[in-house]
Amino acid sequence: MLVVRVMRSFIISNSVVWGLVLGACAPGQSLTDLAEVPINSNAVGAEVIASSFSSQSGDVKIWPQVKNPIGKDLVIEKKIDKLIAKMNIAQKVGQLVMPQIASISPDDVARYHIGSVLSGGGAWPTANANGPLGAWMNLAGKFYGASMDTQEGRLAIPVMWGIDAVHGHNNVVGATLFPHNIGLGAGNNPALVRDIATATAREVAVTGIDWTFAPTIAVARDSRWGRTYESYSEDPKIVKSLGKEMVLGLQGHPAWGDFLAQDKVIATAKHFVGDGGTQAGDDQGDTILSEEDLYKIHGQGYVQALGVGVQTVMASFNSWNGDKLHGHKYLLTDVLKNRLGFDGLVVGDWNGHEQIPGCRIDSCPEAINAGVDIIMVPERWRDFYKNTIKQVKTGEISQARLDDAVRRILRVKFRAGMFEDGKPSVHILAGRGRLVGHADHRRIARQAVRESLVLLKNQSVLPLQSNAKIMLAGSGAHSPTLQTGGWTVSWQGRDNPPSYYKGVTTIFDGFKAQSQNVFFSEKGTYDEKPDIAIVVFGEQPYAEFEGDLADLDFDVQNNADYKLMQLLKAQGIKVVGVFLTGRPRGVDAAIELADAFVVAWLPGSEGAGIADVLVGDAQGRPRYNFKGKLPFTWQNTYPFGYGLGYGDKSLN
Ligand code: BGC
Ligand code: BGC
Repeated sequence: MLVVRVMRSFIISNSVVWGLVLGACAPGQSLTDLAEVPINSNAVGAEVIASSFSSQSGDVKIWPQVKNPIGKDLVIEKKIDKLIAKMNIAQKVGQLVMPQIASISPDDVARYHIGSVLSGGGAWPTANANGPLGAWMNLAGKFYGASMDTQEGRLAIPVMWGIDAVHGHNNVVGATLFPHNIGLGAGNNPALVRDIATATAREVAVTGIDWTFAPTIAVARDSRWGRTYESYSEDPKIVKSLGKEMVLGLQGHPAWGDFLAQDKVIATAKHFVGDGGTQAGDDQGDTILSEEDLYKIHGQGYVQALGVGVQTVMASFNSWNGDKLHGHKYLLTDVLKNRLGFDGLVVGDWNGHEQIPGCRIDSCPEAINAGVDIIMVPERWRDFYKNTIKQVKTGEISQARLDDAVRRILRVKFRAGMFEDGKPSVHILAGRGRLVGHADHRRIARQAVRESLVLLKNQSVLPLQSNAKIMLAGSGAHSPTLQTGGWTVSWQGRDNPPSYYKGVTTIFDGFKAQSQNVFFSEKGTYDEKPDIAIVVFGEQPYAEFEGDLADLDFDVQNNADYKLMQLLKAQGIKVVGVFLTGRPRGVDAAIELADAFVVAWLPGSEGAGIADVLVGDAQGRPRYNFKGKLPFTWQNTYPFGYGLGYGDKSLN
């Protein structure tokens, strides 16, 4: 297998500019640390054949014991005992069932004793995403009210609402949209990631939502995977460090006195475990690895997240050596709960239980028995609920297991203060709509954009003089859709109307704010010849399996933006390529053609961060340096950790 050591020989020597030492390695990494970890199996082409041993047992000693920073609170445990003693089977089972908001009414939450609800990608409280911001809080209030209704002998147990706030509060129009994780991996600034999470938690809290299904701490090892951009890096070191900061910013920490305070949200480490390691990068596929490698590559992020008290872990769609994680008692219970000491709750993924042999969407004692505590069953929740009650009565699911799941769910609710905090509309940030998309949060996002940019080539054209005549061209130059990517207001983020991008600054907008001499022409036409053209192009948005690819070639030769670059070059205009992408793609011809080439990943709402770095002052001196380093090996062209700064010599 290819290892980092081989690729590092390409790395050019660093120069010291701005008093900054620009290393090709992430801070704290050394050659020996990385040398053992194989990178991007697709680069080698070899695929391992399923091994014959059963993964349903293993050697738990491979995994460390983690010290839980929250610790058992005996007062809370007593309250849980008391509550459980009062609950009947139906009330307990209701806590385990998580329907999607579109498929359940507040009345049903009361009637079925539902413990949690979710919004998947693009599930809003109103028919389209443009409803009033207050509609989120309103719905939160209705669900909460229903769950606290004690008529007909019901028990008051607050319902939790979960959502995918994976790059900011991204289902909400007007929210700050931070760069997707791959861009944060390029920036690799742990303190900034914590700030991003703090801001995200606030925006989520404003809408009355308790819980985010983030961070994704996948270590994507094959960029053909459609979720590569949700992964910080192919390097577990970057993933574990940034994942930990994200959890800290979202939840707070007991030592700081802000743990799950009202401006914080419950975090989820996902998807446990091995989601980024599937064969050929297949979404929901099979990760074939020894247990040591499963731990070393995909497991370390969980150790860190648990070490700072993450309260929920999402089971993954993938299999490990042929066995689906949702039914994996060894990994979910023996490893995660017993060995790693996780005392929060395991939530299943979107009908993920259905893929266990013998299970159906509406029936799956196997998942609960394996250790999933909350089953995400967006639509068929009613049948699932009924079947689960039956399975407890027949003993297919033991009372002890049911009680353990309920205890974990209640523990998280007590820790989050949900029993004391009252209705969502009296929480500290309730109604503070101005915090959604707040200028302070946008400033953090803009910094993250600046720091995420990776400069692959620069034939002395960047930075641009602020008074140069600059043309912005290409399909991505003035496109909120291309720069924000998947998981943006809708699930796929592809077909959103312009009104869904409220508050988004495009890349062109950002340049225009720097200089009078900037104009936009998507197709590259002009009246007066520009000094330089910035051609912004990239991937169309996608999410999950819809983004899976057979190979990474971008087919530049047939790409309209590439043809535009050729045309402009033929007219004697210098061209800077800016590539919007969720992963490394084969764009060698475009890099070769361009005078400078920048990878901007999926920057989100603050497109202005790009001009910050690309446009210098009137003398052409940089205002901000490039800081980003490739968090993924760029196929055979650039090694992991590569990225130029101003002043570095370009290799090509
Ligand atoms: C994804 C999860 C997500 C869930 C809820 C699933 O399809 O795999 O990452 O949290 O949907 O939207
Ligand atoms: C939901 C997503 C979910 C996906 C799973 C979509 O309809 O909106 O949140 O992850 O289905 O297949």
